[in-house]
Amino acid sequence: MPIASCHYCQASIVDYSSVVDVRGEMFCCRNCLVASHARGTRPVTPPDLPACARCSCGIFETDALVERQAKRFCCYNCAATAIRGSRLVAA
Ligand SMILES: [Zn+2]
Ligand SMILES: [Zn+2]
Ligand SMILES: [Zn+2]
Repeated sequence: MPIASCHYCQASIVDYSSVVDVRGEMFCCRNCLVASHARGTRPVTPPDLPACARCSCGIFETDALVERQAKRFCCYNCAATAIRGSRLVAA
């Protein structure tokens, strides 16, 4: 079975707990969903909002936020994709 990937940032979906599915399009987390909706209109990241170190979407949903190697990621899927090859402990 092929590994699903985020419709917005193409992160491999390894953790379905943060995944959002909208009309058949799968997003690794709500942060990516919001970023994809805002794309083409205006930047959505307020200066005080942390941004994902990999896909640079604004992290407003801090429930899904994952910190790895002193970087913030929008969710575990993005972190795992960014740090592929290194061993990760499930959040
Ligand atoms: Zn994503
Ligand atoms: Zn991300
Ligand atoms: Zn994400």
